[in-house]
Amino acid sequence: MSYKLVCAGCSKTVQDEYTLLCPHCDSILRTEYEGPFKPLEEPGLGRYRSWLPVPDDFTYPAAPVVYKSEGLANELGLNNLWIAFNGYWPERGADLRSCTFKELEAPPTFARAKACGAKTMILASAGNTGRAFAYVGGKLGFPTVVLIPNACRETFWLPEEKADCVKLIAVDDADYFQTIQVAERIGKLMGFQREGGHKNVARKDGMSIVVMAGYEVMMKLPMHYFQAVGSGTGALGSYEFYNKLFTSGVREKMPKFHLVQGSPFIPMVKAWRDGRDTIVPDDFPQECQDPGYLIGLFAKVLTNRSPPFGGTGGVHEVLSTSKGQMYGVEEEMAKIAGKMFERSEGIDLVPAAQVCVGGLLKALDEGEVGKDDEVLLNITGGGEARYDKEVGKKLPNFDFRISGPDALDDELRWPFDE
Ligand SMILES: [Zn+2]
Repeated sequence: MSYKLVCAGCSKTVQDEYTLLCPHCDSILRTEYEGPFKPLEEPGLGRYRSWLPVPDDFTYPAAPVVYKSEGLANELGLNNLWIAFNGYWPERGADLRSCTFKELEAPPTFARAKACGAKTMILASAGNTGRAFAYVGGKLGFPTVVLIPNACRETFWLPEEKADCVKLIAVDDADYFQTIQVAERIGKLMGFQREGGHKNVARKDGMSIVVMAGYEVMMKLPMHYFQAVGSGTGALGSYEFYNKLFTSGVREKMPKFHLVQGSPFIPMVKAWRDGRDTIVPDDFPQECQDPGYLIGLFAKVLTNRSPPFGGTGGVHEVLSTSKGQMYGVEEEMAKIAGKMFERSEGIDLVPAAQVCVGGLLKALDEGEVGKDDEVLLNITGGGEARYDKEVGKKLPNFDFRISGPDALDDELRWPFDE
């Protein structure tokens, strides 16, 4: 392992004990690596391990696939559209079977946790993060506890039968944000390693593998980078990767970050377009206090109510430094964009990725992107329908159920009392 953890606030170096925040000033942490970015000669995620916070034997068989688009590029009149595909697409060699780029963050997170002595991982998810961690944790034999809002339970699937070391817990009457809070409480009570979300450097760096692969294949940086965001952790990771490249001596311009949310849940879009670096209650749809409402939304994985927007190293900084833009995409437009992608490229997209393609359409409408500009489109999930047809999604049984976000400590302890 040859990385350092450095505080984004006070710049102090911090010893990594799966540390989530700076012990001196509570700011987020960033990794620093020795030497230039240089992918290794091996397949899968191990290729990028010299710039991941993982031990030297880290491997994982699948990775993102980056290619230059012809189909969608022609439809949109773009001459330099590059697609970073995360999901299942056998002809392209894409084999992330959870069909989400969250499968990029899970392997380095488990590797970091293991190196730091953690025994059990706990996290909350509205769907795709939980699926990726349950799948990868099961494959690695790493005890993993995943909490899901009960309303998301019916659509929760796994690429394979659930492993015994993975426990799934449904939380009644809770949305994603409240489910995270319950997971935090269980983590503290039981001494489980809390995954940490955007505070987890392995997660940020793992998600940035998309832009690592983009840089490797394009051999330069794009002018524009497009991604759908819920919390924005993937965008933060990508931004940090580009900054590390510059620090290592690469002389290129920071790509413009174009970040997309699904209307009507667009708190970051509203704040950004309003010129604010803080999110206010009015940025949320009124109905969103009701957990069932969020879960009924088209792109429900993009509905984090507490994203790291303002402050040092937050999404606002990424947008202002990169002269970026944000877009809100309605369900109808996302579906049109998704159909266009499927028809022109030949693979189905998950809702969040449809929202992202919708964001590209809006950016073209608004004149933000020129026809010869290099564009990197992060397709954060796809091939799910294809996977279901060819292999079959598995609907796992849940191990426990918690009565709600305000459940007492005893109820949070009991599933683990043996
Ligand atoms: Zn600090």
